[in-house]
Amino acid sequence: QPLIGVLAVQGDVREHLYAVEQAGARATTVRRPSEVAAVDGLVIPGGESTTIDKLVRIFELRDPIRQRIDEGLPVYGSCAGMIMLADRITGGRADQETLGGIDITVRRNAFGRQVDSFEEDLHIHAIGGAPMRAVFIRAPWVEECGPDVEVLATVEQGPAAGRVVAVRQGRLLATSFHPEVTGDHRFHQLFVQMVRDARAGARATTR
Ligand code: GLN
Repeated sequence: QPLIGVLAVQGDVREHLYAVEQAGARATTVRRPSEVAAVDGLVIPGGESTTIDKLVRIFELRDPIRQRIDEGLPVYGSCAGMIMLADRITGGRADQETLGGIDITVRRNAFGRQVDSFEEDLHIHAIGGAPMRAVFIRAPWVEECGPDVEVLATVEQGPAAGRVVAVRQGRLLATSFHPEVTGDHRFHQLFVQMVRDARAGARATTR
């Protein structure tokens, strides 16, 4: 079984560890560079992206994670994790940096004060089956996508209808919402499959 790390500097780490295990992989926390090196995939949880940004630098995780992303490590980011994977932010603090990797611009806290948290059922082709309950908590949305970015889900109702809230580019996956809090592990299963495929690919090329 692949070993999937959950970046454990801030945010809802425990929920992701549980969801990864329910999705059929082994899960471990990642707080040190040596732990970044040991995993087959990485989850960046929801939380506060300005804080996660600061702590990945203090813990000297920023460069090792960026390097592994460049080398093709599968990474899944939810909410603040989506912000960390975005190449560009709008509405962030001036000194806020991301890890980058996905050719998107995200808008932080995009849904505004009145609906800053809400839930909606989304039809997501990439995971199939029944619509998925999506929980948004002071969530970002994706404002612009580059040509290599695959849109997996958009908001379907209300004033934000049409806004992009789930994307994939290569081995990087990101959602504005939090599948780790709903008990529906299909998004984590999709990610675990991406990790398995990456490992199979790596084995094939070293032969
Ligand atoms: N608003 C948070 C941020 O900008 C994200 C919220 C979340 O992860 N639930 O980082």
